[in-house]
Amino acid sequence: MRQTVPTGQWISRDGQDWWFDAGSVAIDFAYAGGFGNGPESISTPAELTEWLVTRFPELVGDATDREFSDSLALQRALTRLVIAVGTGARGPAEDIDVVNLFAATPDIPPSLAGGTRQAGRSRAHVGQCLSAITRDAIEIFSADNLDRVRECAADDCSLIFYDESRSNNRRWCSMQRCGNRAKVRAHRNRSAGEQATR
Ligand SMILES: [Zn+2]
Repeated sequence: MRQTVPTGQWISRDGQDWWFDAGSVAIDFAYAGGFGNGPESISTPAELTEWLVTRFPELVGDATDREFSDSLALQRALTRLVIAVGTGARGPAEDIDVVNLFAATPDIPPSLAGGTRQAGRSRAHVGQCLSAITRDAIEIFSADNLDRVRECAADDCSLIFYDESRSNNRRWCSMQRCGNRAKVRAHRNRSAGEQATR
């Protein structure tokens, strides 16, 4: 069962900002590191804390320098894995080792709302949030889900997402970006075809 962590964030590409919901907090986290070709939205411990707390409201305390450098190692490993799996390749073994290392640490325990004790509420530290992100990665990179990690169907777009839809038929990184561009192009081609047959 996948955790219900909110997904999606603003990313900058081609001089414009797009809301890109990768469908997975693990892939979102990889893109927050810039993914090798975009501006990073997490480049300081404070930005790491801010990014995490919007997804994991249980987080208490600020990220330390050490936790920030750990998070960069995880982010780089996730980025390489997302690119490999999204393009139909096998993930590098050393990156899988990094993921497994983080997943071996405690994540955020689930809790049921409606209790009486404040003490029973979960409070999480940065390491637990990184572990939770890692568990999401393990889920989406499992053999059953591999075909759901895909590149956007547009020729000139290489954004990679996890298709959460039941029908597994998501095509675009975002409807606003590539979905609409494809629709406009199809309409133009249709109109051109009609003109040619006139
Ligand atoms: Zn796209």
